[in-house]
Amino acid sequence: MTRFILGFDVGGTKISAVVGDEDGHIFSRVRKPTIRHLGKKRLTQQLESMGKEALLKAEVEKPDLVGIIFAGLVDSEKGAVISSPNILGLNNFAIVEPMEEFFDAPATLENDATAATIAESLFGSGRGIENFVYLTLSTGIGGGAFINGKLYKGSHGLAGEMGHMVIMSNGPTCGCGRKGCLEAIAGGKGIARRVSENVSAVRDSETLSSLRPYEIDASKVFQARRKGDMFAQLMIEETIYYLAVGIVNIISILDPEVVIIGGGISRAGKELFSPLNAAIKEEFKSMRRPVKILRGLQDGSDLAAISVPLYKEKVSGNPAR
Ligand SMILES: [Zn+2]
Repeated sequence: MTRFILGFDVGGTKISAVVGDEDGHIFSRVRKPTIRHLGKKRLTQQLESMGKEALLKAEVEKPDLVGIIFAGLVDSEKGAVISSPNILGLNNFAIVEPMEEFFDAPATLENDATAATIAESLFGSGRGIENFVYLTLSTGIGGGAFINGKLYKGSHGLAGEMGHMVIMSNGPTCGCGRKGCLEAIAGGKGIARRVSENVSAVRDSETLSSLRPYEIDASKVFQARRKGDMFAQLMIEETIYYLAVGIVNIISILDPEVVIIGGGISRAGKELFSPLNAAIKEEFKSMRRPVKILRGLQDGSDLAAISVPLYKEKVSGNPAR
C-alpha cells in the first residue's frame, strides 16, 4: 500500500507544503511567502492550513509521516528549532509536537541543508554511494556528508557547515563572525557584495554598473557574462577559483566518491560545472583522484521535506517518532 508523506519546507523566502510518496513522486504543492514577523502561533496555524490544503489537493485523507525542514539551527532529536534567522520569535520552538498532534502522524524535523543531503542519498546522485559530500550554493553555502553509507551528524548534530571554512585569511567578514569564509566569498550574497564593491572601480561593465547594489545577484552576474561582460567574467572566474579551493579542501579531508552541488547557483549548469571541474583539476595536480562532481536534484527542496522522515525510519528500523 502506498504511504503518503506530508512535507513542509520553512525557508528564508517561501514556505511550502507538499504531499509525496516513498518513491519520490510529488502529488501536490502549496507555496506561500515567508513572513518575518510570523511567530510560533501563526506559523503553526499557517503550516496546519497549508498542510490541509496540500492533502486535499492530493486527495489524501491523512499522512502516514510528516517531515519538516527548516532554514536555521534545529535539534532534530528534540524536534525543536533552536534559532531562526528568517522568522523572528522562533527560538527554542518545539515545532514537531503540534504538527504530530494536528496531523495525527509521526513528524521529523531537520535543517534544510542536511535534509537536501538526505534527499540526494534517497533520490539523487548520492543513491547507492557510500561516501559523498553535498554542497548547496545559494544565498549562503551549506551542506552535508554521507560517510560509510550514513549521514554524518557530528557530536552536536552540526556537521556539514562547509560554507564556514575559511579560504581567505582576513577576507570579508562572514555572517558567522569569522573572516574569509567560503560563504562570504562564493555564496550568493558574497558574490553580490564583491560585485557591487568592485564595479565602481571599473568602467567596462555595461550591464552591472547600471544596477543598484541590492539589484545584483549571482544569476545577473552569469547573465552579464553571457553577454560578453568582461567584469562579470572576472568575478565568476574568481568565484569558481575559491569554490574549487573549498571543494578540494573537503575532498582532501573526506575522500568522497562524489561531490554533489545543488542550490540556486547550480542552476547555471554547464556555465558553472565545466570551469569548476577544470579549476578543481588544476587545484589538485599531483594529489588528484577520480572524484566526480555532479549536479544536485532540481526541485530538491520538495523531495528534501519528504526524505527526512523516510531516512529516519531507514536508520532506526522503526517508524519515525
Ligand atoms: Zn562563516
